[in-house]
Amino acid sequence: MASTARPSFSLGNETLKVPLALFALNRQRLCERLRKNAAVQAGSVVVLQGGEEMQRYCTDTSIIFRQESFFHWAFGVIESGCYGVIDVDTGKSTLFVPRLPPSYATWMGKIHSKEHFKEKYAVDDVQYTDEIASVLTSQMPSALLTLRGVNTDSGSVCREASFEGISKFNVNNTILHPEIVECRVFKTDMELEVLRYTNRISSEAHREVMKAVKVGMKEYEMESLFDMGGEYYCFASDITCSFPANGKFTEDQKAIYEAVLKSCRAVMSTMKPGVWWPDMHRLADRIHLEELTRIGLLRGSVDAMLQVHLGAVFMPHGLGHFLGLDVHDVGGYPEGVERIDEPGLRSLRTARRLEPGMVLTVEPGIYFIDHLLDQALADPAQACFFNHEVLQRFRTFGGVRIEEDVVVTNSGMELLTCVPRTVEEIEACMAGCDKAFTPSSGPK
Ligand code: MN
Repeated sequence: MASTARPSFSLGNETLKVPLALFALNRQRLCERLRKNAAVQAGSVVVLQGGEEMQRYCTDTSIIFRQESFFHWAFGVIESGCYGVIDVDTGKSTLFVPRLPPSYATWMGKIHSKEHFKEKYAVDDVQYTDEIASVLTSQMPSALLTLRGVNTDSGSVCREASFEGISKFNVNNTILHPEIVECRVFKTDMELEVLRYTNRISSEAHREVMKAVKVGMKEYEMESLFDMGGEYYCFASDITCSFPANGKFTEDQKAIYEAVLKSCRAVMSTMKPGVWWPDMHRLADRIHLEELTRIGLLRGSVDAMLQVHLGAVFMPHGLGHFLGLDVHDVGGYPEGVERIDEPGLRSLRTARRLEPGMVLTVEPGIYFIDHLLDQALADPAQACFFNHEVLQRFRTFGGVRIEEDVVVTNSGMELLTCVPRTVEEIEACMAGCDKAFTPSSGPK
């Protein structure tokens, strides 16, 4: 821990120092939003429950603890078993930590004081979790705002805070979720700094893997080199590179790769506030179909192909998703934003218009998936566009994906990922000749 004047988190050894002020600002942003919400009575407090440690099945072996994302967003606390309370009117924050038994110190080390946690996390007050009911009773809140809502990616409902004695309070579990989710969609400058860092580290990992990869290597061997979708202090990155194991693209690999690179860059240069994300998915589809036509795999009018959703045969997933504390970050479908029920587009994890501060992945791909190709060939409306002979050549090709992480700025976007992207850059990197690697990057 750094000086108490400006507490921060880091993993030491030249890793990024993340100021705890990041979380104070998030709490402040949340309170400001809640104070504007007419449904929030004066005297309300937010009550969040952190994640709990879990054991492997019936054993006493712990699964590595990772904080629950909403709790992390508000408090940045790495310990399990905590609660956090935020007074909406004043912004006062209280962290509740578990009261550990004396035996803990025998096996696990020093039991820290409340004062230690207060300094470590820069909160206004620290109490023990077994005191939460009595502390809250003394504050006489008009309502406890607890977190309950559906994650639109998983369909799962988040775990609402609960403690012994909560039934004595007026609890509202409908207000908080949409408000905190909306806060999480827009990243602050401090959050962007951490996301830039996780992206830089993961980009380095990708470059190391490209240099080390050999034909016949297994994926776990590459994983063991470095984390390629690294997380730092719960901030995620999500990067995909596609490259030939032997370091040299074939003509067909190059053609498909460059088609995907073209759509990726077209999307990135079109992205700016106001742009509707499904339109970017459609743009990628259009470029894929144009390029597959140029290669000779498809023939006919690209507009007619789009009419019958041919793009989804090659890219069945969505173009990209929000990224933040979760790799598929929350907020893709707030009330009023509907999923588009069309092939490909229905897989989008958001159908929102872009706004500054949103962080997304741009991850177009072209894949040759037998069962999707067979389905298309069985449908006369789609089959008519295929050149069967050329398609046959690509049957066992696999697929190409390029995934970049970007933040929407006031006038466009900023690219966070920094890996070799052109065929030339990748081949140079894999040959170990990228000492002076500067990414050709996307559009600025
Ligand atoms: Mn992704």
